[in-house]
Amino acid sequence: MLITDELFDAYLKCKTKARLTFGPAGSGESSHPISDWQQRLAENYQANCRDRLQFADSADCFVGNPCSEDLKSAKYRLIIQPYITAQDVGSNIHALERGAAQTQTRNSPYTPIRFVPFEKVSKHHRLMLAFDAIVLWKASGQMPTKGTIVHGFQHTALVFKLDAWIHEVESLIGKLRTLLTGGPAPEPVLIKHCKECIFEACCRKRVTDKNDPAYGSFDTHSP
Ligand code: SF4
Repeated sequence: MLITDELFDAYLKCKTKARLTFGPAGSGESSHPISDWQQRLAENYQANCRDRLQFADSADCFVGNPCSEDLKSAKYRLIIQPYITAQDVGSNIHALERGAAQTQTRNSPYTPIRFVPFEKVSKHHRLMLAFDAIVLWKASGQMPTKGTIVHGFQHTALVFKLDAWIHEVESLIGKLRTLLTGGPAPEPVLIKHCKECIFEACCRKRVTDKNDPAYGSFDTHSP
């Protein structure tokens, strides 16, 4: 089973969402006004950041999916928008940047970069970047030690060490696998994210039906 960045992102928001994203139940959901707007915002911001990076260093820039040999040999200084899969994980990594200094061979010469349109960087964004790092590690056999989140109007670069985050993401991926192989989706519990979730309509209906006295009681809560 391939755990993608989309699945991992859904899992960080809601277990039901991860299960619905993975299963056939979610295939009928294609549009949600807030979710669609957030998607456009993220895509526009990412495109803008990619253009800025390429403009600053177009000579040694590769766009697309490099082979694992080129990853290991650090052939390109900048790799834009690679989709990398390895073993049982895959991610649409926003960008990879080769460091200036020679690293130990067990460490990746590349730093994964994520583009986040918001001014505030959350734990969620750090975990997503650590997920990218795990994919890169599995694809190249070399672990990135640092990651960068470019965020906000000023395109501020937040650089941080990844080791603790990678340990946490490995544990979360294990839990996600268990969830995805463990039968039907958990019953929805309404949370703050529901109002911007593509599954809002079907989950609200399920909660409403369950709360109908004819179905007995059903607890809901917001975090
Ligand atoms: S609508 Fe709410 S409960 Fe349903 S999948 Fe989305 S976040 Fe989870």
